[in-house]
Amino acid sequence: MSEPNAQVDAAIKGMVGTEYGRTYSWDPVNQPMIRQWCETMDNESPLYHDPEFARQSPHGGPVAPPTMLQVWVMAGLKNRLPPGSTTRSPFEAVEYLRANGFPSTVAVNSEQEYFRYLRPDESISFTAMLESVSDCKSTALGTGYFVTVLMTFLTATDEKVGTMRFRLFVYKAHKEFKPAAAAPADAPAKPSRPHPGISQDTQFFWDGLKQNKLLIQKCKGCGKLRHPPGPVCPHCHSFEWEALQASGRGTVHSFVVMHYPEVPGFPPENPVLLVELEEGTRLVAGLVGIKHADVKVGMPVRVEYQKVDDDLVVPVFRPV
Ligand code: ZN
Repeated sequence: MSEPNAQVDAAIKGMVGTEYGRTYSWDPVNQPMIRQWCETMDNESPLYHDPEFARQSPHGGPVAPPTMLQVWVMAGLKNRLPPGSTTRSPFEAVEYLRANGFPSTVAVNSEQEYFRYLRPDESISFTAMLESVSDCKSTALGTGYFVTVLMTFLTATDEKVGTMRFRLFVYKAHKEFKPAAAAPADAPAKPSRPHPGISQDTQFFWDGLKQNKLLIQKCKGCGKLRHPPGPVCPHCHSFEWEALQASGRGTVHSFVVMHYPEVPGFPPENPVLLVELEEGTRLVAGLVGIKHADVKVGMPVRVEYQKVDDDLVVPVFRPV
């Protein structure tokens, strides 16, 4: 725990438990939004696309993917709320901290819980509560508070259909952010780079990289490929799988350049690619051999293996 400002500390702790009024949705749960969301997420379940399939399913009719929960109450691009919604921000604790010495914010995590499926034509609203504020903490980013807002989603008859906990870190950075000069595109990652969490399900992937092989999990039941690795095939639910060695060729499906916050061990202005392999799966990887300003979606790339240290080799991609 760092030295907190006692006045700010007391004020922010005093806000815990505050409940905020209701925010309504612009539109009821609806099929066009479900279809577009499923398209974006590559969700091809007939439950969401085929009314007849949905009718014969245990749901007895169309339902929305549970993970769309927050979609129904989003304010929209112009951040306007539907009539009748509360005008008090459920994030006033964040705003208070920002105005009182903790100007930076980073979203930490979001946990959703679903109590049942939603059906088309249901109108969803939510209420919010400031559930918790941590003690003043010092992290790699800076010093500040973890703020957790609990949103409860309700139907028009006030039935609770789900919750979401949204956690932010509101902080004062250790040093003022100054963009560093871009590292040469080929610069190796620093040895202090953090290691990924490796589980029994993902071990083979990282072991493969150490042997300069890019492996993709292949279901022995239906033959479909999947990445990131997991214990169960999402298509046929088989637990049996084998590893297929990828050619290493692919294209840039998408990319971001992460400017801030800087992450220790990664270059500043860290480019992160989403590569679509020619086998059809996608993976997140680094970039070498080109300035990030010159990367284009659709650009053909090929894998290389970058040794971080004795225990970690990561895939990086170079334009071909
Ligand atoms: Zn399968």
